Amino acid sequence: MALLDSDAYWQPGLETQSRAAWRQLQLDLLRDHLRHAYDGSPYYRAAFDAAGVSPDQLRNLDDLRRFPFLDKGVIRDRQQAAPPFGDLVAVPERDIVYISASSGSTGAPTASPFTAGDFDDWIDYEARQFWSSGLRPTDRYAHALNFSLFVGGPCVLGAQKLGALSIHAGTLPSERLLAVLRQFQATAIWTTPSYAWHLGETAQKEGIDPKRDLAVRRLFVAGEPGGSIPETRARIEALWGAEVYDYYGLSDVFGSCAGMCVEKDGLHWAEDHILVEVLDPETREPVAEGERGELVLTTLRKRARPIIRFRTGDIVSVTTEPCRCGRTSLRLTGVHGRLDDMLIIKGVNLFPSDVEAVVRQDAALTGEYRLVVERIDHLDRLTIEVEHAHGFNGHPSDLRDRLRRQVKAATGVGAEVALLAPDTLPRAVHKAKRVDDRRAHVWS
Ligand SMILES: [Zn+2]
Repeated sequence: MALLDSDAYWQPGLETQSRAAWRQLQLDLLRDHLRHAYDGSPYYRAAFDAAGVSPDQLRNLDDLRRFPFLDKGVIRDRQQAAPPFGDLVAVPERDIVYISASSGSTGAPTASPFTAGDFDDWIDYEARQFWSSGLRPTDRYAHALNFSLFVGGPCVLGAQKLGALSIHAGTLPSERLLAVLRQFQATAIWTTPSYAWHLGETAQKEGIDPKRDLAVRRLFVAGEPGGSIPETRARIEALWGAEVYDYYGLSDVFGSCAGMCVEKDGLHWAEDHILVEVLDPETREPVAEGERGELVLTTLRKRARPIIRFRTGDIVSVTTEPCRCGRTSLRLTGVHGRLDDMLIIKGVNLFPSDVEAVVRQDAALTGEYRLVVERIDHLDRLTIEVEHAHGFNGHPSDLRDRLRRQVKAATGVGAEVALLAPDTLPRAVHKAKRVDDRRAHVWS
């Protein structure tokens, strides 16, 4: 490895320590954290007792596998049983200084409480992640995520702590946001991948070339798999003339838990705050490194509401190979989709992101797509709706055939292709809805 450039890191000693040192740090933190959860939270005390496990039995990190899982349903149920924050909380309410809440798109919103110490920890590692993505005190950073109760909102304070000029933009209308970016010559912005795309296209429609007329050179994205799909990232980068860095976070854990460094080769985990397991969703046993499995997370320091073995429902893959940047933390190498979004078509597992990778590398297409799944005569039929690009003058049947072959090669699933005119599919401003599974209607 090359000599370390100390300006490359926020905390050089921590970020480049050996894997053995990471594991020892996690074990020390986990022992203390499980004890804190057991002593402070009625829920964890009952759950650990029911499973016949005690924090004192943790001798190595593998012992965590004896502890019970947690999921969104449990968090929601416990919150309803012991309002307003639920009995996973392990500190007195006077120690809680901040809550975020999930959107409630799949049920009642759940609150995520923080102590003052939790909040400071979060902002500090957010600064560390921004630093790893190349953000520096000379940058002007526009935070274009929702601030209303959303756990992504306070992440702006990480950029501010790092020393960047921080523009608390929030979710402005696109024209207004473009005006702000232009007026203040923002050099970095954080939004979702869909919105980054939408904003770039809106700029072009207004006669603004993001590459020439705006100063944005770094885009941070989160909230959808797109930022880790190289073809999607490449197209957003081409549109903006900027580097795109993917970030990953969960409202019930932290605003962002992992982010890309300047090498853009996976997302580095904040492993001194969150322990990662990747498990087979069926057997709940660990998968081999690099294989796809469900992401299960355990906080290591969050005092207000410890999160122990939270099943995220996200299907991911990870690596512990050292990164070219010199950081040694575990990296998320793919967020393949939600367990809930995983389609089973003719017995084959398929994620919308698998199709996205094919659709976005074809310059004859706009890159927008939707998957329609039907059951016809007891057989699944997948139709991929795509739009041809403006000015496309090839043969539609050739394009459809090419796409069919590529999707079959990439996913193993045979699909029909419906070729639509540009701007036909609905544009998502934030999270895109990519699947229309009509099979449920057949069964009802
Ligand atoms: Zn790296």
